[in-house]
Amino acid sequence: MSRTVPFYDFHKLHSPGFQEKINARFAEIVSKNGFVEGEYNFSFEEKFAEKQGAKHCLLVANGTDALEISLLAYGLKPGDKVAVAGITFYASGEAVLNMGMIPVYVDVVPNSGLMCPKSLERVLENHDIKAVMPVHIYGLPADMKAINELCAPKKIPVIEDAAQGQGGYIHSGPIGSGGNLVTFSFYPTKNLGAFGDAGAILTDDDDLALIIKTIRNHGRSDLELMGRNSRCDHLQAAVLDLKLETIDEENKQRKQIATWYHEALKDLPINLVDSKYLETSSWHLYPVFLSDSGIREKAQAAFKEAGIGCTPFYERSLNQEKVFNKFTDGEWAEAEKMAGTVLCLPMNPFITQEDVSYVAENLKKVL
Ligand SMILES: *Cc1c(COP(=O)(O)O)cnc(C)c1O
Repeated sequence: MSRTVPFYDFHKLHSPGFQEKINARFAEIVSKNGFVEGEYNFSFEEKFAEKQGAKHCLLVANGTDALEISLLAYGLKPGDKVAVAGITFYASGEAVLNMGMIPVYVDVVPNSGLMCPKSLERVLENHDIKAVMPVHIYGLPADMKAINELCAPKKIPVIEDAAQGQGGYIHSGPIGSGGNLVTFSFYPTKNLGAFGDAGAILTDDDDLALIIKTIRNHGRSDLELMGRNSRCDHLQAAVLDLKLETIDEENKQRKQIATWYHEALKDLPINLVDSKYLETSSWHLYPVFLSDSGIREKAQAAFKEAGIGCTPFYERSLNQEKVFNKFTDGEWAEAEKMAGTVLCLPMNPFITQEDVSYVAENLKKVL
């Protein structure tokens, strides 16, 4: 069998036509020697804010910085407790630790990995939480209505980690439109990816926007604030700005592929993400939930043999990661269960219906 189904597909994403356009932009930037705060930074920030339904977009150096700067912008201090989702990419928790803050784990909803509002309610009752950080994990929209309603009366700021969420929808519109600080990563593998590192923060609040602008550029403004270097360079902004032209089409394709997967896998003895998310997820990843870790290992081996890319995002819940060992506040029963059984199937805009059938056949064989 000569078919292979890659997890990501940069060859197709960066087609010769795309390369021609981006090379022209790079040549223009080099000839003008305008490497920071260039016209593509401003162009992208304006378009992306509008696209995601926020007033301001501030580009920063990467998605982890976006989280750290958001914590600072909301005025949190070292030692403050931050409620974090139990299933996420390590960086969401790392940002809390980097700022000297204390993570308190919130458990997740089974078959999604999204922050569980009931668990959050208990965590908010039992701890003096200074910020809550839900993650739109896999691109699935977190229940922002419920989370905001728990946090608003206590005036607890919410930071949405939307590193995987570009293209998804919450109750108020596109992910980014909820009025909180919302952070993005444009690492190359994300739905909207640069040629290296970049990130952004969205906000509707003029004062927070100025604070973020000040922090990302060494504290340079009239505000008296400690800054750092978290600028996004002009070359990355030029890539992101160009990719905005095709991102909607690519995200539409991801949704189509998720729908094919749902149909092809529906009779197998595994759990899928609830089909109510078919319309609202960005489908950054397509996770399936197997009955135990032994079956997951078998599936991984079979996929490798068959030339199918797959990844166990995330093999450990946040509390199980080594550097988080000494932080033991919060809840994580469902998060640990899920980390033991989740497997992400190939997901990129170039997967065909035949690829999906091939993945389904190979999965069926091991179950
Ligand atoms: C990728 C990612 C990040 C970190 O982004 P970087 O740009 O790599 O710093 C944070 N949170 C989540 C959920 C991510 O997927």
